[in-house]
Amino acid sequence: MTFSHVLGYPRIGADRELKRAVEAYWQGSLDRDGLESAGRELRARHWAAQREAGLDLVTVGDFAFYDQVLDLSVTLGAVPARFGAEEEIAAGEVGLDTAFRMARGRAPSGEPTAACEMTKYFDTNYHYLVPELHAGQRFRLASSRLFDQVAEAQALGHPVKVSLLGPLTWLWLGKEKGEQSFDRLALLEELLPVYGELLARLGEQGVEWVQLDEPALVQELPTAWQQAYEAAYSVLGRAPVKLLLASYFGGLGDNLNLAVGLPVDGLHIDAVRAPEQLDAVLDRLPGYKVLSVGAIDGRNVWRADLALLRERLASARMRLGRRLWIAPSCSLLHVPVDLTRERDLDPELASWLAFARQKLDETVTLARLLDGRATEVDRRRLEAATEALQARRDSPRIHRPEVADRLAGVEPADHERRSPYGVRAEAQRRALKLPLLPTTTIGSFPQTDAIRAARRALKAGELSRDEYEARMEEEIAYAVARQEALGIDMPVHGEPERNDMVEYFGEQLDGYAFTRFGWVQSYGSRCVKPPVIYGDVSRPGPMTVRWSRYAQSLTDRPMKGMLTGPVTMLQWAFVRDDQPRETTCRQIALALRDEVCDLEAAGIRAIQIDEPALREGLPLRQGEWPAYLAWAVECFRLSAAGVGDETQIHTHMCYSEFNDIIESIAALDADVITIETSRSDMELLDAFREFAYPNEIGPGVYDIHSPNVPDVAWMVALMEKAAERIPVKRLWVNPDCGLKTRRWEEVEPALANMVEAARQLRRRFG
Ligand code: GLN
Ligand code: ZN
Repeated sequence: MTFSHVLGYPRIGADRELKRAVEAYWQGSLDRDGLESAGRELRARHWAAQREAGLDLVTVGDFAFYDQVLDLSVTLGAVPARFGAEEEIAAGEVGLDTAFRMARGRAPSGEPTAACEMTKYFDTNYHYLVPELHAGQRFRLASSRLFDQVAEAQALGHPVKVSLLGPLTWLWLGKEKGEQSFDRLALLEELLPVYGELLARLGEQGVEWVQLDEPALVQELPTAWQQAYEAAYSVLGRAPVKLLLASYFGGLGDNLNLAVGLPVDGLHIDAVRAPEQLDAVLDRLPGYKVLSVGAIDGRNVWRADLALLRERLASARMRLGRRLWIAPSCSLLHVPVDLTRERDLDPELASWLAFARQKLDETVTLARLLDGRATEVDRRRLEAATEALQARRDSPRIHRPEVADRLAGVEPADHERRSPYGVRAEAQRRALKLPLLPTTTIGSFPQTDAIRAARRALKAGELSRDEYEARMEEEIAYAVARQEALGIDMPVHGEPERNDMVEYFGEQLDGYAFTRFGWVQSYGSRCVKPPVIYGDVSRPGPMTVRWSRYAQSLTDRPMKGMLTGPVTMLQWAFVRDDQPRETTCRQIALALRDEVCDLEAAGIRAIQIDEPALREGLPLRQGEWPAYLAWAVECFRLSAAGVGDETQIHTHMCYSEFNDIIESIAALDADVITIETSRSDMELLDAFREFAYPNEIGPGVYDIHSPNVPDVAWMVALMEKAAERIPVKRLWVNPDCGLKTRRWEEVEPALANMVEAARQLRRRFG
């Protein structure tokens, strides 16, 4: 009998109950017992869903109030000293509030303390808390949370499999801290006994299987790390439990032999992103090992093609017999919870989708189909899937010949501005008449309660479209007047009409759909609701022109139009899986190109195309970077290159690691790029200097993530450092990012100081 299981299930709840409970606890309206019981209830519900679906094991260890990597760090006693948890660690019971303080710097009890760093988990939008590692660090079991949850599931009568991050990926995701330089891999020896103890305790609890997640195995690993896998697992393999080593988010590549050969009882592979590795793994898998095939897409929302999967996996079933397990490719944490809640979604589109709850059913049905023990329900599911997928393949809503034709007609010249930057810069200087070190902002101004209330009223039908638009024009007029008064050289309209920089455009493009409850955890209690790109993308009509034109009518200064770039539009969505991502991105680029040209025709002389997600789209394997960067750059250029020399194209990116992609950044050929720099003390400009970045740069001098008002001298000093690295005539003065999360009371004095700093700098350099 083919076993079915999941690597993890979303914990937020179909109604984001976890978010509500955790936030209520932080605010003091829910006490500790209340929070714990909300957690217990969610776990019970999620385990029940897994059993009701017919999975053979329920997964324990995927729950966390904030982050499962944080919980593991706590369990291992890896709590940085500044949280003052020595006693809690010694007692083996680090408190919940200590964990919350690590996550967000404060909790209902305990001193506020600088939080741990947070970053994206591999190439997902899920953020984990980075383990802080010190030379000579000691570990010890410091929480019994996991054991309690195992007991909880057992008391409910469930067959339990525990899921945990493996020791090497935990170290891989960690960061060396402290004065003394050292290699975090050196901590493995100290770490293994604690893992061993943990596994022994689970064994005592009667747990048969423990899944150790080692997704680092799909990346290029240094030789020392590869060897460490051998050493670590030969120790862990002696634990009194069976180990399932889980790889996901890609193929094992050159780690395949290593992963297959480790002395554990089973291996999980991602057969969605890397279906080609299945045969190689089958050929090498030792006869005693279980192979868990991740056949259902854990990273995307599309319904599985059960008939095709049955066919593809038939030989694996023959070869492995009962040693074959079926699962989604990775934890279902990365997809929304339950499709049946989407009552407003177009039924045809809904029939092409599967969320976490539906993926449980797909997993179970696939396992039973492979065994030849399909029930009536399985047969109906198989048929329904086949029918829906057939309809999807043929649907005129997805395949729009005019979009494909247009893309086929794109020529190399369409990616090129008319003249090189030098010529354009001259033309723009004459047309825009900007001073040395011009000032601008990144696009958004504060999203006030009044703005949000107006948008809600529009959606609720309490405000007419005309009334709403008049309200937005008032906001724009206000923002423009403030910028004129402040003396900003290149104003923006302020984006009051945008709820979100992707949703705003997606809602106006064909091929995009939006769910009502399709929430996915991003970090802590924060969830995002990515749109679904289901079909060929095109632009029925202008999206931003009326706002930009209105804003320009209020001022003689050159108004900067504001768009979200093609790569970011792609990256922050669930993307269709029936054509290469690159093709979808090019379609978006063409739609944006029309918007750029329409803005130019409406008299907008500068247009910013934001690409904050360009860097995070980098593949997990560095060997695949060049191909990605090539098409990402082409898409940006395709969206931008339709305008004349005098029209100034800006782009914006809010992160600070450019070293390894600087060539591609330059290849975008934007006339101006604004970036985040204020917290890195302009050091990141070194990458731009060393590469001799040819175009204009606005290094952010005002950290918008902080409520503090930066003073003039501070910003002058930052720009002086910038001027040591980039010629002054190619520098701009601007904040780090958009101002939508700030209040006007913070923004006005900060921008006044920024403008004053620019004036002082002009006197110095002019
Ligand atoms: N133009 C956007 C804004 O100002 C850019 C946001 C971003 O970079 N994430 O809000
Ligand atoms: Zn930004």
